[in-house]
Amino acid sequence: MHASQLDHFKRLLLEKQRELSDLTGEAGIRVPAAGGLRGDSVEEADAEAELQIRLHQTDGPLLRAIEDALGRIRQGTYGVCGGCGVHISTIRLEAVPWTHHCRECKERRSA
Ligand SMILES: [Zn+2]
Repeated sequence: MHASQLDHFKRLLLEKQRELSDLTGEAGIRVPAAGGLRGDSVEEADAEAELQIRLHQTDGPLLRAIEDALGRIRQGTYGVCGGCGVHISTIRLEAVPWTHHCRECKERRSA
């Protein structure tokens, strides 16, 4: 992969990483302090806490995948499938820059 392409994907990854970090950072501020709630507000707080957990569950693995991909850029192995070693198509990388598997391996893993 050309250095200019790598640079392009690195920017995409850093952008997404910042986006996700901003989201979780903002959500963290809105989590109500423990013990400071009474009566009707408890139910509302529970719903919000549940939402926070869901956010973390979905963003956590993605953030890790982005960090892994950035690590592969540094090591010079970015864009190579972790399953079979082929070069992942740039079309696929454009859509999912943090992927570590070609379409075939991805489908085999989720099948
Ligand atoms: Zn593969």
